[in-house]
Amino acid sequence: MTDRVYNFAAGPAVLPLPVLEEAQRDLLAVPGVGISVMEMSHRSKTIIGIMESAEEDIRRLAAIPENYRVLFLQGGASMQFSMVPMNLLTPNGKADHVVTGSFAKLAFQDAQRVGQINLAGSTEAGGFVRVPDQDELELDPEADYLHFTTNNTIYGTQWRLEPETGGVPLVADASSNIFSKPIDVAKYGLIYAGAQKNLGAAGVTLVIIREDLLERSPPTLPAMLNYNTHVKGKSAYNTPPVFAVYILGLVVKWLLAQGGLGEMARRNAEKSQLIYDLIDSSEFFRGHALPPYRSTMNVTFRLPSEDLEARFVDHAAETGLCELKGHRSVGGIRASIYNAFPRDGVAALVSFMQEFERTQG
Ligand code: PMP
Repeated sequence: MTDRVYNFAAGPAVLPLPVLEEAQRDLLAVPGVGISVMEMSHRSKTIIGIMESAEEDIRRLAAIPENYRVLFLQGGASMQFSMVPMNLLTPNGKADHVVTGSFAKLAFQDAQRVGQINLAGSTEAGGFVRVPDQDELELDPEADYLHFTTNNTIYGTQWRLEPETGGVPLVADASSNIFSKPIDVAKYGLIYAGAQKNLGAAGVTLVIIREDLLERSPPTLPAMLNYNTHVKGKSAYNTPPVFAVYILGLVVKWLLAQGGLGEMARRNAEKSQLIYDLIDSSEFFRGHALPPYRSTMNVTFRLPSEDLEARFVDHAAETGLCELKGHRSVGGIRASIYNAFPRDGVAALVSFMQEFERTQG
């Protein structure tokens, strides 16, 4: 096997090694079938079986109630920015959005192209170092739904608790922290997430939608943009991204085998705390996010100068700690440490940071 480095990329991101090994083992021929998953009809028994088990395992992992449908769609999480308002806005209805980062802003802008969307809260003025507190939200009790972004991938902030909306359905873009901790699905109307961070490979987007909301979709929507099409077609109305769903299925099996979402939460808290403890005890490293809002998935921090940051990224890569450069809108360093990111890799980063401060600080 070629040597693997520690991959801190924000997404597509690190996958569990046993998942890659299983996919590699079965790449040429699924045992007993003799054909690769990539070469199989989406109407074949094997692919239907793979898609059904992926759904069953997701339901078990997140204890998804019966009255929710699970869909595997394409177009990325970005497609949901417009598909959500197209389907969930009622005639002459309006929705609330909270803007807590770059993707939240894109979701807000796209939704505005579809209908009447109100800004219920924004932390942009402060540089997205946190998400709003409940008492800062200006919620419309008549809104068709409230859209928020559970984890802000670029800024490294995260909601600890869902916003309280009374009866207004919550819609969450959970792309960068889905299944990183237990989730009470019953609190949500719709949850969506691109798979390429915590769920697998790029190409498939998971959508979990409460059944009664399906009645809202206008029949005039083009088929591919209507959730009902995909519910009726069991996510195979057209050719689904079968390989990406297959990998997602393996990742979910791996999550179950690790002990599920409670165990993931424990590991993710422990891993991220290793880095945050160092940041808090250092004058050299400066965290971007305010402590109560810090993400367990994307740890963002700065060094005293851009020159030192560039050197940090280069030296780290030389020692096998890769993809640590922060997003250009924040600068500095971002360590993305999703579910599959090993604790040893985080410990290696912390040692590297200590050594870097000692020699360059
Ligand atoms: N939302 C969030 C929170 C993200 O982090 C990303 C991608 N980094 C997106 C949406 C966009 O996802 P996609 O590329 O799958 O459209």
